[in-house]
Amino acid sequence: MARVALVTGGTRGIGAAISKALKAAGHAVAASYAGNDSAAERFKDETGIPVYKWDVSSFDACAAGVKQVEADLGPIDVLINNAGITRDTAFHKMTLEQWNAVINTNLGSLFNMTRQVIEGMRARKFGRIVNISSINGQKGQFGQVNYSAAKAGDIGFTKALALENARGGITVNAICPGYINTEMVQAVPKDVLEKAILPLIPCNRLGEAEEIARAVVFLAGEDAGFITGSTLTINGGQYMA
Ligand code: NDP
Repeated sequence: MARVALVTGGTRGIGAAISKALKAAGHAVAASYAGNDSAAERFKDETGIPVYKWDVSSFDACAAGVKQVEADLGPIDVLINNAGITRDTAFHKMTLEQWNAVINTNLGSLFNMTRQVIEGMRARKFGRIVNISSINGQKGQFGQVNYSAAKAGDIGFTKALALENARGGITVNAICPGYINTEMVQAVPKDVLEKAILPLIPCNRLGEAEEIARAVVFLAGEDAGFITGSTLTINGGQYMA
């Protein structure tokens, strides 16, 4: 059944692949982004998916953004909390600004966004929420105390919200990607990739954004109604949680 789906950070990287895959599966999709207008316009031209600009770390901006999407497309039944950032540095050098930016964008956003749609999902007795966490929220990562804390928080959020809404036809799940072949990872020098990163991945390759997107489409579907509170690990065998 076609649903209205909103993908935060849905214009680039993994989010763009998720937006396209949800559209291909028949859903009416909206993609949000933070500020990269040219990437968003390019994405819109290529895909025909409408784009919306707001900051997911702001509760009020999320309220206004969701209101606009719902006015344009209808009530949101599928929410993919994908937007995320990194501000890496060793903890003993980390500023409060780096901490707050990462916590508010990667974890605060789950409250800011999900709070806008949960009452409607409960009233309609249907909802699919997928939170994009990270392998580094499962295992920790040097230089990423802020990011690892936020991404681990995403998993706790997923489990508790799943419990509260399991009877209401709403599922809440997390996906933890490993190294995915996005712009961020493509910027890593080839020799670093080959000598330091690929040896960590038993599959001996990076993941593709489309491989995350296919899992999201599955979790967002009607058939996945018995899967809730789960954490799906997609990392080529790098970390077996
Ligand atoms: P990208 O940097 O390629 O894209 C991020 C997207 O999120 C962009 O659309 C960006 O908008 C948007 N965004 C960032 N901050 C905000 C904000 N404050 N408000 C609204 N939108 C925002 O990210 P990836 O595709 O690499 O990552 C997507 C998710 O997957 C993230 O949560 C990340 O932590 C997670 N992840 C990624 C991995 C990887 O290997 N790439 C591995 C594990 C997890 P704009 O274009 O305007 O900047």
